[in-house]
Amino acid sequence: MIDNHGRKIDYVRLAVTDKCNLRCFYCMPVDGINFKPKKELLSYEEMIRLVKLLAAEGVSKIRITGGEPFLRKDIMFLLASLSKLEGIETIAITTNGTLTKPYLDDLIQLGINHFNLSIDSIDPKRFKAITRRDSFAQVWECYEAMIQKGLQVKVNCVVMQDQNIEDIIPMVDLGKNDPVSIRFIEEMPFNGQGKSTPKYEWNYIQIIKHIENHYGRIVRLNNPKNSTSINFQIPGFVGTFGVIPAYSRTFCGSCNRIRVTPEGILKTCLYDQGVFNIRHLMRAGASDEELITAVQSAVGHRAKNGFEAERLRDPGNLISESMASIGG
Ligand code: SAM
Ligand code: SF4
Repeated sequence: MIDNHGRKIDYVRLAVTDKCNLRCFYCMPVDGINFKPKKELLSYEEMIRLVKLLAAEGVSKIRITGGEPFLRKDIMFLLASLSKLEGIETIAITTNGTLTKPYLDDLIQLGINHFNLSIDSIDPKRFKAITRRDSFAQVWECYEAMIQKGLQVKVNCVVMQDQNIEDIIPMVDLGKNDPVSIRFIEEMPFNGQGKSTPKYEWNYIQIIKHIENHYGRIVRLNNPKNSTSINFQIPGFVGTFGVIPAYSRTFCGSCNRIRVTPEGILKTCLYDQGVFNIRHLMRAGASDEELITAVQSAVGHRAKNGFEAERLRDPGNLISESMASIGG
Protein backbone atom coordinates (compact mmCIF):
# COMPACT_ATOMS: atom_id res chain seq x y z
CA MET A 1 0.00 0.00 0.00
CA ILE A 2 1.40 3.36 -1.04
CA ASP A 3 -0.31 6.54 0.13
CA ASN A 4 -1.04 9.70 -1.87
CA HIS A 5 2.30 11.17 -0.74
CA GLY A 6 4.35 8.18 -1.89
CA ARG A 7 4.81 6.67 1.58
CA LYS A 8 4.73 2.89 1.84
CA ILE A 9 2.43 1.56 4.55
CA ASP A 10 3.75 -1.63 6.11
CA TYR A 11 3.06 -1.13 9.82
CA VAL A 12 -0.25 -1.33 11.69
CA ARG A 13 -0.82 -0.36 15.29
CA LEU A 14 -3.70 -2.34 16.74
CA ALA A 15 -5.17 -1.08 20.01
CA VAL A 16 -6.94 -4.09 21.53
CA THR A 17 -8.68 -2.44 24.46
CA ASP A 18 -9.32 1.06 25.81
CA LYS A 19 -9.26 -0.17 29.42
CA CYS A 20 -6.34 0.45 31.71
CA ASN A 21 -5.33 -0.27 35.28
CA LEU A 22 -3.24 2.93 35.50
CA ARG A 23 -4.45 6.51 35.19
CA CYS A 24 -1.44 8.35 33.75
CA PHE A 25 -2.65 11.92 34.02
CA TYR A 26 -1.47 12.88 30.51
CA CYS A 27 -3.56 10.03 29.05
CA MET A 28 -6.71 9.62 31.15
CA PRO A 29 -8.79 11.56 33.67
CA VAL A 30 -8.75 10.21 37.22
CA ASP A 31 -12.17 8.55 36.80
CA GLY A 32 -11.16 6.91 33.53
CA ILE A 33 -12.93 7.41 30.22
CA ASN A 34 -16.18 6.19 28.77
CA PHE A 35 -14.91 2.62 28.26
CA LYS A 36 -16.58 0.83 25.37
CA PRO A 37 -18.68 -2.28 26.04
CA LYS A 38 -17.25 -5.51 24.61
CA LYS A 39 -19.71 -5.68 21.73
CA GLU A 40 -18.42 -2.33 20.49
CA LEU A 41 -14.84 -3.59 20.34
CA LEU A 42 -13.34 -5.44 17.41
CA SER A 43 -13.48 -9.15 18.26
CA TYR A 44 -10.32 -11.25 17.97
CA GLU A 45 -11.77 -12.96 14.89
CA GLU A 46 -12.32 -9.54 13.28
CA MET A 47 -8.78 -8.44 14.15
CA ILE A 48 -7.26 -11.62 12.74
CA ARG A 49 -9.30 -11.26 9.53
CA LEU A 50 -8.18 -7.65 9.16
CA VAL A 51 -4.49 -8.35 9.79
CA LYS A 52 -4.56 -11.28 7.35
CA LEU A 53 -5.98 -8.99 4.65
CA LEU A 54 -3.47 -6.23 5.42
CA ALA A 55 -0.56 -8.70 5.41
CA ALA A 56 -1.56 -9.67 1.88
CA GLU A 57 -1.22 -5.95 1.00
CA GLY A 58 2.33 -5.73 2.34
CA VAL A 59 1.91 -5.04 6.05
CA SER A 60 4.72 -6.87 7.85
CA LYS A 61 4.72 -5.33 11.33
CA ILE A 62 1.96 -5.20 13.93
CA ARG A 63 2.12 -3.41 17.24
CA ILE A 64 -0.34 -4.49 19.91
CA THR A 65 -1.23 -1.63 22.21
CA GLY A 66 -4.21 -0.17 24.09
CA GLY A 67 -5.24 0.81 26.88
CA GLU A 68 -3.32 -1.96 28.56
CA PRO A 69 -3.23 -4.97 26.20
CA PHE A 70 -2.79 -7.52 28.99
CA LEU A 71 -6.14 -6.52 30.47
CA ARG A 72 -7.97 -7.96 27.49
CA LYS A 73 -9.10 -11.51 28.20
CA ASP A 74 -7.31 -14.32 26.31
CA ILE A 75 -4.82 -11.91 24.74
CA MET A 76 -2.45 -14.86 24.17
CA PHE A 77 -5.03 -16.39 21.80
CA LEU A 78 -4.88 -13.27 19.62
CA LEU A 79 -1.08 -13.10 19.76
CA ALA A 80 -0.67 -16.79 18.93
CA SER A 81 -3.05 -16.42 15.98
CA LEU A 82 -1.33 -13.29 14.63
CA SER A 83 2.10 -14.90 14.98
CA LYS A 84 1.03 -17.61 12.53
CA LEU A 85 -0.10 -15.24 9.78
CA GLU A 86 1.91 -15.31 6.60
CA GLY A 87 3.71 -12.02 5.92
CA ILE A 88 3.72 -10.77 9.52
CA GLU A 89 7.41 -10.61 10.38
CA THR A 90 7.33 -8.60 13.59
CA ILE A 91 4.82 -8.40 16.39
CA ALA A 92 5.71 -5.75 18.95
CA ILE A 93 3.82 -4.87 22.13
CA THR A 94 3.47 -1.60 24.02
CA THR A 95 2.64 -2.22 27.67
CA ASN A 96 2.69 -0.53 31.04
CA GLY A 97 4.38 -3.62 32.49
CA THR A 98 2.07 -4.09 35.47
CA LEU A 99 0.70 -7.47 34.32
CA THR A 100 3.19 -8.47 31.62
CA LYS A 101 5.95 -10.41 33.37
CA PRO A 102 4.11 -13.75 33.76
CA TYR A 103 3.52 -13.83 29.99
CA LEU A 104 7.12 -13.25 28.90
CA ASP A 105 8.20 -16.88 28.42
CA ASP A 106 5.09 -17.71 26.37
CA LEU A 107 5.58 -14.56 24.29
CA ILE A 108 9.18 -15.57 23.57
CA GLN A 109 7.87 -18.98 22.46
CA LEU A 110 5.67 -17.18 19.93
CA GLY A 111 8.70 -15.25 18.63
CA ILE A 112 7.51 -11.98 20.20
CA ASN A 113 10.53 -10.15 21.59
CA HIS A 114 10.04 -6.44 20.82
CA PHE A 115 8.57 -4.50 23.73
CA ASN A 116 7.93 -0.87 24.46
CA LEU A 117 7.61 -0.55 28.21
CA SER A 118 6.22 2.72 29.56
CA ILE A 119 8.06 4.04 32.61
CA ASP A 120 7.76 7.78 33.23
CA SER A 121 9.80 7.80 36.42
CA ILE A 122 12.20 5.48 38.20
CA ASP A 123 11.31 7.09 41.49
CA PRO A 124 8.34 5.19 43.02
CA LYS A 125 6.79 8.36 44.45
CA ARG A 126 6.92 10.28 41.20
CA PHE A 127 5.75 7.19 39.33
CA LYS A 128 2.70 7.07 41.61
CA ALA A 129 2.02 10.78 41.19
CA ILE A 130 2.04 10.45 37.39
CA THR A 131 0.17 7.14 37.03
CA ARG A 132 -2.08 7.64 40.09
CA ARG A 133 -1.36 4.02 41.07
CA ASP A 134 1.25 2.44 43.35
CA SER A 135 2.57 -0.05 40.78
CA PHE A 136 6.22 0.85 40.33
CA ALA A 137 7.52 -2.36 41.92
CA GLN A 138 5.68 -4.62 39.42
CA VAL A 139 6.76 -2.47 36.47
CA TRP A 140 10.38 -2.48 37.56
CA GLU A 141 10.32 -6.28 38.02
CA CYS A 142 9.00 -6.53 34.49
CA TYR A 143 11.80 -4.29 33.17
CA GLU A 144 14.46 -6.39 34.90
CA ALA A 145 12.94 -9.64 33.62
CA MET A 146 12.82 -8.31 30.05
CA ILE A 147 16.49 -7.29 30.18
CA GLN A 148 17.53 -10.54 31.81
CA LYS A 149 15.72 -12.55 29.10
CA GLY A 150 17.52 -10.63 26.37
CA LEU A 151 14.39 -9.03 24.90
CA GLN A 152 14.53 -5.89 22.78
CA VAL A 153 13.27 -3.24 25.17
CA LYS A 154 12.45 0.36 24.48
CA VAL A 155 11.37 2.36 27.51
CA ASN A 156 8.81 5.06 26.72
CA CYS A 157 9.04 8.12 28.96
CA VAL A 158 6.77 11.13 28.43
CA VAL A 159 8.71 14.21 29.50
CA MET A 160 6.70 16.69 31.57
CA GLN A 161 7.59 19.96 33.21
CA ASP A 162 7.19 19.80 37.03
CA GLN A 163 6.79 16.01 36.93
CA ASN A 164 9.80 13.98 35.85
CA ILE A 165 12.58 16.24 34.58
CA GLU A 166 14.83 14.90 37.35
CA ASP A 167 14.35 11.40 35.89
CA ILE A 168 15.86 12.20 32.49
CA ILE A 169 19.53 11.66 33.41
CA PRO A 170 18.97 8.59 35.67
CA MET A 171 16.96 7.03 32.84
CA VAL A 172 19.69 7.67 30.26
CA ASP A 173 22.08 6.13 32.82
CA LEU A 174 20.16 2.84 32.62
CA GLY A 175 21.89 2.42 29.26
CA LYS A 176 25.30 2.31 30.95
CA ASN A 177 24.87 -1.42 31.60
CA ASP A 178 21.51 -2.38 30.11
CA PRO A 179 21.06 -2.86 26.35
CA VAL A 180 17.92 -0.74 26.43
CA SER A 181 16.72 2.15 24.32
CA ILE A 182 15.19 4.95 26.39
CA ARG A 183 12.80 7.08 24.35
CA PHE A 184 11.79 10.47 25.64
CA ILE A 185 8.42 11.47 24.17
CA GLU A 186 7.00 14.97 23.88
CA GLU A 187 3.67 15.22 25.64
CA MET A 188 0.66 15.38 23.30
CA PRO A 189 -2.83 16.72 24.05
CA PHE A 190 -4.51 13.26 24.08
CA ASN A 191 -5.43 13.29 27.76
CA GLY A 192 -9.13 12.47 27.52
CA GLN A 193 -10.13 15.90 28.82
CA GLY A 194 -9.71 18.30 25.98
CA LYS A 195 -9.61 21.30 28.21
CA SER A 196 -6.37 20.99 30.10
CA THR A 197 -3.40 22.82 28.70
CA PRO A 198 -0.27 20.73 29.11
CA LYS A 199 2.97 22.66 29.45
CA TYR A 200 4.79 21.92 26.22
CA GLU A 201 8.08 23.33 27.44
CA TRP A 202 10.01 20.11 26.95
CA ASN A 203 10.23 19.71 23.22
CA TYR A 204 12.77 17.37 21.63
CA ILE A 205 15.40 20.10 21.24
CA GLN A 206 15.18 21.01 24.89
CA ILE A 207 15.46 17.35 25.94
CA ILE A 208 18.55 16.76 23.77
CA LYS A 209 20.19 19.93 25.13
CA HIS A 210 19.51 18.85 28.71
CA ILE A 211 21.19 15.49 28.14
CA GLU A 212 24.07 16.97 26.18
CA ASN A 213 24.73 19.51 28.94
CA HIS A 214 25.02 16.69 31.44
CA TYR A 215 27.24 14.25 29.51
CA GLY A 216 29.27 16.69 27.43
CA ARG A 217 29.33 14.46 24.37
CA ILE A 218 26.49 12.50 22.84
CA VAL A 219 26.81 10.64 19.56
CA ARG A 220 24.03 10.86 17.01
CA LEU A 221 23.19 7.43 15.55
CA ASN A 222 21.95 6.63 12.07
CA ASN A 223 18.19 6.45 12.29
CA PRO A 224 16.54 3.21 11.21
CA LYS A 225 14.22 3.78 8.24
CA ASN A 226 10.80 5.10 9.29
CA SER A 227 11.96 5.65 12.85
CA THR A 228 9.98 8.24 14.80
CA SER A 229 12.86 8.78 17.24
CA ILE A 230 16.09 10.70 16.81
CA ASN A 231 18.65 8.41 18.41
CA PHE A 232 21.88 8.94 20.33
CA GLN A 233 24.42 7.08 22.42
CA ILE A 234 26.67 8.15 25.25
CA PRO A 235 30.22 6.95 24.48
CA GLY A 236 30.89 3.74 26.44
CA PHE A 237 27.22 2.94 27.09
CA VAL A 238 25.68 -0.31 25.81
CA GLY A 239 22.21 1.20 25.58
CA THR A 240 20.98 4.16 23.57
CA PHE A 241 18.45 6.94 23.97
CA GLY A 242 16.15 8.73 21.61
CA VAL A 243 13.71 11.60 21.51
CA ILE A 244 10.33 11.40 19.82
CA PRO A 245 9.03 14.75 18.54
CA ALA A 246 5.46 13.53 18.91
CA TYR A 247 4.02 17.02 19.29
CA SER A 248 6.52 18.83 17.02
CA ARG A 249 5.72 16.23 14.34
CA THR A 250 8.97 16.35 12.42
CA PHE A 251 8.82 12.72 11.29
CA CYS A 252 5.62 12.68 9.21
CA GLY A 253 7.48 12.64 5.88
CA SER A 254 8.47 9.00 6.36
CA CYS A 255 5.39 7.78 8.22
CA ASN A 256 4.70 4.12 7.33
CA ARG A 257 1.92 3.35 9.78
CA ILE A 258 -1.83 3.27 10.18
CA ARG A 259 -3.81 2.73 13.36
CA VAL A 260 -6.87 0.73 14.31
CA THR A 261 -8.64 1.76 17.51
CA PRO A 262 -10.25 -0.72 19.94
CA GLU A 263 -13.63 0.08 18.34
CA GLY A 264 -12.24 -0.68 14.90
CA ILE A 265 -11.87 2.87 13.63
CA LEU A 266 -9.13 3.28 11.05
CA LYS A 267 -6.84 6.25 11.61
CA THR A 268 -4.35 7.15 8.91
CA CYS A 269 -2.73 9.73 11.21
CA LEU A 270 -2.48 9.91 15.00
CA TYR A 271 -3.91 13.43 14.87
CA ASP A 272 -6.92 12.70 12.61
CA GLN A 273 -10.43 12.09 13.97
CA GLY A 274 -10.71 8.61 12.43
CA VAL A 275 -11.54 7.82 8.83
CA PHE A 276 -14.11 5.01 8.94
CA ASN A 277 -15.23 2.18 11.18
CA ILE A 278 -13.93 -1.19 9.99
CA ARG A 279 -16.09 -3.05 12.52
CA HIS A 280 -19.27 -1.50 11.14
CA LEU A 281 -18.25 -2.45 7.62
CA MET A 282 -17.42 -6.02 8.65
CA ARG A 283 -20.64 -6.45 10.61
CA ALA A 284 -22.62 -5.10 7.65
CA GLY A 285 -21.31 -8.08 5.69
CA ALA A 286 -18.50 -6.47 3.64
CA SER A 287 -16.45 -8.89 1.56
CA ASP A 288 -12.66 -9.08 1.89
CA GLU A 289 -12.35 -7.15 -1.34
CA GLU A 290 -14.69 -4.40 -0.13
CA LEU A 291 -12.74 -4.10 3.12
CA ILE A 292 -9.38 -3.79 1.43
CA THR A 293 -10.76 -1.33 -1.13
CA ALA A 294 -12.02 0.86 1.74
CA VAL A 295 -8.64 0.75 3.50
CA GLN A 296 -6.78 1.49 0.28
CA SER A 297 -9.06 4.42 -0.47
CA ALA A 298 -8.36 5.86 3.02
CA VAL A 299 -4.62 5.37 2.52
CA GLY A 300 -4.95 7.14 -0.82
CA HIS A 301 -6.37 10.22 0.92
CA ARG A 302 -3.96 10.61 3.81
CA ALA A 303 -3.11 13.96 5.32
CA LYS A 304 0.39 15.06 4.49
CA ASN A 305 1.34 15.43 8.14
CA GLY A 306 -0.04 15.64 11.65
CA PHE A 307 -0.70 19.37 11.39
CA GLU A 308 -2.84 18.93 8.29
CA ALA A 309 -4.67 15.98 9.89
CA GLU A 310 -5.45 18.10 12.93
CA ARG A 311 -6.63 21.00 10.76
CA LEU A 312 -8.94 18.70 8.78
CA ARG A 313 -10.89 17.53 11.84
CA ASP A 314 -14.54 18.61 11.87
CA PRO A 315 -15.17 22.02 13.44
CA GLY A 316 -15.89 21.46 17.12
CA ASN A 317 -14.05 18.13 17.12
CA LEU A 318 -10.83 19.39 18.63
CA ILE A 319 -8.48 16.83 20.12
CA SER A 320 -9.97 15.64 23.40
CA GLU A 321 -9.71 11.85 23.18
CA SER A 322 -7.61 9.73 25.51
CA MET A 323 -4.53 8.07 24.08
CA ALA A 324 -5.93 4.84 25.56
CA SER A 325 -8.64 4.94 22.90
CA ILE A 326 -6.03 5.36 20.15
CA GLY A 327 -3.05 3.27 21.24
CA GLY A 328 -0.30 5.86 21.08
N1 SAM B 1 -0.92 1.12 28.32
C1 SAM B 1 0.22 0.88 27.52
C2 SAM B 1 1.38 1.76 27.91
O1 SAM B 1 1.17 2.71 28.65
O2 SAM B 1 2.48 1.47 27.45
C3 SAM B 1 -0.06 1.04 26.03
C4 SAM B 1 -0.95 2.18 25.60
S1 SAM B 1 -0.31 3.81 25.89
C5 SAM B 1 -1.64 4.80 25.27
C6 SAM B 1 0.95 3.91 24.64
C7 SAM B 1 1.98 5.00 24.85
O3 SAM B 1 1.36 6.25 24.67
C8 SAM B 1 2.62 5.01 26.22
O4 SAM B 1 4.02 4.94 26.10
C9 SAM B 1 2.20 6.34 26.79
O5 SAM B 1 3.19 6.90 27.61
C10 SAM B 1 1.97 7.16 25.54
N2 SAM B 1 1.07 8.29 25.77
C11 SAM B 1 -0.18 8.25 26.28
N3 SAM B 1 -0.71 9.50 26.34
C12 SAM B 1 0.22 10.34 25.86
C13 SAM B 1 0.27 11.75 25.67
N4 SAM B 1 -0.74 12.54 26.01
N5 SAM B 1 1.40 12.27 25.14
C14 SAM B 1 2.46 11.48 24.81
N6 SAM B 1 2.46 10.13 24.95
C15 SAM B 1 1.36 9.56 25.49
FE1 SF4 C 1 -2.89 3.34 30.76
FE2 SF4 C 1 -0.91 3.45 29.01
FE3 SF4 C 1 -2.71 5.47 29.21
FE4 SF4 C 1 -0.99 5.08 31.20
S1 SF4 C 1 -0.48 5.64 29.08
S2 SF4 C 1 -3.22 5.42 31.42
S3 SF4 C 1 -0.73 2.89 31.19
S4 SF4 C 1 -3.11 3.42 28.53
